[in-house]
Amino acid sequence: MHAAAAEASAFLKETSAAYRRLLQPLLLNVTGLSLEQASRFDAIYLLGLRYLDRFFPDQLHVSDILGYFQETGYLLVSESEQLVIHENDDPGVQPYCIPVNIPGEIHIIMGPLKGWLDLETLCHELGHALSFLYADAGLPPEQIDFFQSGGLSESFAFLFQKICMSKEFIHEVLSVDSDLAQMISEIHEVKWLTLSRRYAAKLAIEGENFRQGHLQRGEQHYADTMQQETGFYYDPETYLFDLMPDFYTLDYYQAFLGSAAIEQYLKGVYGGRWYLEAEASGMLKQWWREGNSQDLSDFMKKKTGSPLHSGPFLRNVVAREQAAVHNFSF
Ligand SMILES: [Zn+2]
Repeated sequence: MHAAAAEASAFLKETSAAYRRLLQPLLLNVTGLSLEQASRFDAIYLLGLRYLDRFFPDQLHVSDILGYFQETGYLLVSESEQLVIHENDDPGVQPYCIPVNIPGEIHIIMGPLKGWLDLETLCHELGHALSFLYADAGLPPEQIDFFQSGGLSESFAFLFQKICMSKEFIHEVLSVDSDLAQMISEIHEVKWLTLSRRYAAKLAIEGENFRQGHLQRGEQHYADTMQQETGFYYDPETYLFDLMPDFYTLDYYQAFLGSAAIEQYLKGVYGGRWYLEAEASGMLKQWWREGNSQDLSDFMKKKTGSPLHSGPFLRNVVAREQAAVHNFSF
């Protein structure tokens, strides 16, 4: 825990300057606010991407996305007994993937597919669902039903979430104009960096609180650190609401690093559009057969040959900075 919290603090230092350079023009353009004026509620609006929904393809249905993944080799997405998707119109619905029985019965609960955030949700939950659907039914219970941590499953979820918000996917699969696809993916990468820093900051705070052994005293430390690292104002009173159970903050933070490393590995082997290659889906399915027999750290060492580290994620940040157009028009 302490090693991971220290690593998160180093990650925050390394990404701080790039974060501010990328975030500030976007925030100003979307909300009219500078970072000094904005609160976490402005961050929620910014990251919700609803202001981009007028560019979302009309008539895009969940079945289109499932059909796309089926064509690229994930045949089980069309097995409606095994993968059940519930589109629930209740505005309070919390998206979730429920593995009732791995690999035989997986449910995804989500709202209707009306915009970019819904597409991200669908692809995120599909990343979880696919990793369950392709697990080997013959594995012992401790390797299929019990999770050492959520890190590996969240890495697959983030990997699929990232695919559907890439410029290539938005332009070539969803047929959105190339300049718009560039803008939407650029904004999404700023969102990605913002979220990764939010979880890194939360992890550093939790590490410090556990070190001190006074969880209740953490309110001001939380508000100060979150504002310092994200730039947005946080109420001290929201500290305990924002605390996640079961060290899930650690799982999310490591999944940002893990998904970037898996993506760069797959790109290295199969090229930039790896997700279109049947051999890439074959490799993922092969990996998924092993269920939870490894946690994220062991998985990374065994499958990609490198331990879990922030290098691939940081390379994406540098690439985004170099390619940024900042031509936000909406
Ligand atoms: Zn998830």
